[in-house]
Amino acid sequence: MFSNKLSIEEFMLGLTKRNPHEPEFHQAVREVAESVIPFINQNPQYIDTRILERMTEPDRIISFRVCWEDDQGKIRVNRGYRVQFNNAIGPYKGGLRFTSNLTLDTLKFLGFEQTFKNSLTTLPLGAAKGGSDFNPKGKSDREVMRFCQAFMSELHKHIGPDIDIPAGDIGVGGREISYLFGQYKRLENKFHGVLTGKGLEYGGSLVRKEATGFGTVFFMDEMLKEHGESLEGKRCVVSGSGNVALYTAEKIIQLGGIVIAMSDSSGAIHVKEGMTQEQLEWLIDLKENRRGRIKEFADHFHCDFLPDSKVWPIPAQLAFACATQNELDIDDAKTLVKNGCIAVAEGANMPSTLEAAHFLKKNKVLFAPAKAANAGGVAVSGLEMTQNSMRLSWSMEELEDRLKSIMGRIHEQCLQYGKQEGQPVDYVRGANIAGFKKVADAMLAYGVV
Ligand code: NDP
Repeated sequence: MFSNKLSIEEFMLGLTKRNPHEPEFHQAVREVAESVIPFINQNPQYIDTRILERMTEPDRIISFRVCWEDDQGKIRVNRGYRVQFNNAIGPYKGGLRFTSNLTLDTLKFLGFEQTFKNSLTTLPLGAAKGGSDFNPKGKSDREVMRFCQAFMSELHKHIGPDIDIPAGDIGVGGREISYLFGQYKRLENKFHGVLTGKGLEYGGSLVRKEATGFGTVFFMDEMLKEHGESLEGKRCVVSGSGNVALYTAEKIIQLGGIVIAMSDSSGAIHVKEGMTQEQLEWLIDLKENRRGRIKEFADHFHCDFLPDSKVWPIPAQLAFACATQNELDIDDAKTLVKNGCIAVAEGANMPSTLEAAHFLKKNKVLFAPAKAANAGGVAVSGLEMTQNSMRLSWSMEELEDRLKSIMGRIHEQCLQYGKQEGQPVDYVRGANIAGFKKVADAMLAYGVV
């Protein structure tokens, strides 16, 4: 056999050539390659079998036309995708994203990340991601319904409870999942757990809505405790005000932290004395039921609104990046360090640029990467699948306990490969190697497939 050592730069050169013009995918792979390639070089069985090359190639990419009629009777054409990335350890699983600027590049980065995240949950879940360049913002309910029905008319051919189980993501919340599930049921004449994030009336799970945000805070709590700190009394900034951000804020408040800032793409609010539970409930209602903007919170509660600003310039000890990819760049990282931030947790997928993540780690800021910190969402999706198969529903307490213990197990796996003498734990390395090993070993067991 060959067993020549892998070089990160040569590997990345090959990947970039095979996947030109896909900067987000390159970024996600490089982040993994930087920590996994040194590990692979110590374990030659992964070199000769070209496991990393195989893991960076999706199993398949499905792209399809979605044709629907708007309220004016005009025909609209969008593009739908499902990237089925890897099913070595379980059926494909991952969200659907509806945003106007969605590209295959973004979906490949998300699907690749999902492989490691789902592996870390310790549940039998493979990885996929999908979506469309359809933007539900500004559309009527009827238009969203017609779009979802058209989208599912094609997607249903490629999914199933033992094949691929999509969920929500940006732009795909409870309303969209309901329309998608309704159409699947109509086409297949089957009632089974083919989507997660469903309504409680038809097979959804308690705590799914809260899971990603709650899980991110549980992970931050574990990370702080490991380093002799706690959340209690810490001033926190949370970017975004969508599903992940809102429930991150809720759990921070429950655990005694102080939420002083949140945002959306139009700006940030600064609540100097900290948001109360009642104020947060008002914001959740605004965002979930009235589809409002964060500025309305500032107008209602007379706090500062910083137009077009991120939350990172507002001095805080803990930062939670819960909005979107690459929202925390090197300048933001420098600002956080200058203002005394001690820990950053990624609630969103790849919210930090590589440069920002390197800078934070170099400056000894504890850094929880997305694939570990935000795995709570897919973990509770896995629990929703279990409940659907068993035809039962677990209670809020039981599910929150299970979520907490899964986040604890993810943290332990990070420690196994990320602990280093006299330094803070390297959670990026820990998460990447632990996530990689399980999938790689399953692929090795299957032989050359
Ligand atoms: P939502 O669509 O519910 O919310 C996204 C939020 O981010 C909105 O408040 C949006 O504001 C805001 N936002 C978008 N771009 C920016 C920006 N440039 N600056 C500031 N705010 C911005 O999505 P989710 O909360 O579900 O997802 C957020 C992230 O978490 C994504 O990366 C997603 O992939 C990831 N994730 C989500 C999971 C889940 O269970 N929902 C699971 C795991 C990961 P606006 O309304 O103005 O656009």
